[in-house]
Amino acid sequence: MSSPTQGADTGSERGDTLLEIRDLKTYYTDGSLIGGEPPVRAVDGISLEIARGETLGLVGESGCGKSTLGRTLVGLESATDGTIAVDGTDITELSGSGLREWQQRIGMVFQDPQESLNDRQTIGEVINGPLETHDWKTPAKREERVFTLLDQVGLREEHFYRYPHQFSGGQRQRIGIARALALEPEFLILDEPVSALDVSVQARVINLLEQLQEELGLTYLFIAHDLSVIRHIADRVAVMYLGNLMEVGPTERVFDSPANPYTRSLLSAIPGSSTPAPDNLERITLRGTPPNPRHPPAGCPFATRCPGKIKPAEYEGLSDEAFDAIEAFRDVLRDRSRRETGLSSQLKRRLGIRGDGRSVEAIVGELFKNIDLSPKAQDVLDQATEAAELDPEEALATVNEEFNSVCDRESPAEHEVDETGRRSRCIRHRAEHASPGDT
Ligand code: ADP
Ligand code: MG
Repeated sequence: MSSPTQGADTGSERGDTLLEIRDLKTYYTDGSLIGGEPPVRAVDGISLEIARGETLGLVGESGCGKSTLGRTLVGLESATDGTIAVDGTDITELSGSGLREWQQRIGMVFQDPQESLNDRQTIGEVINGPLETHDWKTPAKREERVFTLLDQVGLREEHFYRYPHQFSGGQRQRIGIARALALEPEFLILDEPVSALDVSVQARVINLLEQLQEELGLTYLFIAHDLSVIRHIADRVAVMYLGNLMEVGPTERVFDSPANPYTRSLLSAIPGSSTPAPDNLERITLRGTPPNPRHPPAGCPFATRCPGKIKPAEYEGLSDEAFDAIEAFRDVLRDRSRRETGLSSQLKRRLGIRGDGRSVEAIVGELFKNIDLSPKAQDVLDQATEAAELDPEEALATVNEEFNSVCDRESPAEHEVDETGRRSRCIRHRAEHASPGDT
């Protein structure tokens, strides 16, 4: 949609879109490793637009790639693939002065105000940092700017000469915000800006952010794992899982009637939060933990844990418990075939096993204790169990061949799920499958 133009940062009225992300991937490769572990696919093909002046909330479990996405937008990580278009310029291609120009337009606030502030610098020096780095105007103007910023974030002039450790968490986060605003950016990445703060302090910092947004016409990417914060502050919300966006749309829509099984799981799991789970949602307990992002599933990223996973046609009659046990068994085999040290921690937890070296047979006995399988399924299970000790890969292949569903095989495309432009990725959105709500 955005055609290339010469003027990169005219700030012209090119519609509402500030930034357009297409198929963005950011992988971490630790080149030094002999034997070459595959890269960590922290961001694995994300497409997303951010509109001028909006607050886009980004949610998802720890490790799903939220910070990596933010850091890639700021240029702190380099994209492995894909584009980030801003006014027709792909900022993933920028370096040198082009990158510096972009970095003046975008600021970042980090989760931990303790860690992100250098304790040997005075507050004045901290906030002046980006101004100096970018050689902003004159030293006198810079100093003036720092005092303006202190005032804008609710700190006082005399704080200029103090050190970060003399401040509370909330005040330190105000300092972080002042620093992020120093170069008058139009766009802020707020990476869990209130997660480390007490609830009462959270509210004040959020108020400040809302007020600054209004005053300065800022656009926010607000990263949080606290859904009630997101519900309060975000215009739209993007739900991330294992480097992918599962659902994105207007906040109220997503919270009131989540379209994606992952969103439903996430919302239904809000523990004792002020945001009630939507009425129509049963509480869903997600099994296991997200897969290792070095080894993401081949089909749907959420397939290994999805409560709405489609059963293979042949096994539609199989009980959910049996299906869960098979999924758990597949986890064991995946784990073993990767030659990681013994059982995955999630399985240990599930089975209450402490030590290592449990035989696959014993694990299968445990998992399938009270479960009836069809003779055919039982046969495949027995075969796999026998093969597993010596050749877990072969065993996994056997189980996969028999029990793979369309969710294991095919990566779901984005579907527009309502008239607001809300998008969700789930095989069940396809006409030939029931909607995820029907499970
Ligand atoms: P989130 O912010 O959602 O918790 P991150 O973006 O920090 O997630 O991390 C996404 C994945 O990338 C995780 O598996 C994490 O361990 C991995 N990761 C993050 N930073 C690095 C790095 N510098 N090198 C290698 N892996 C990383
Ligand atoms: Mg993070």
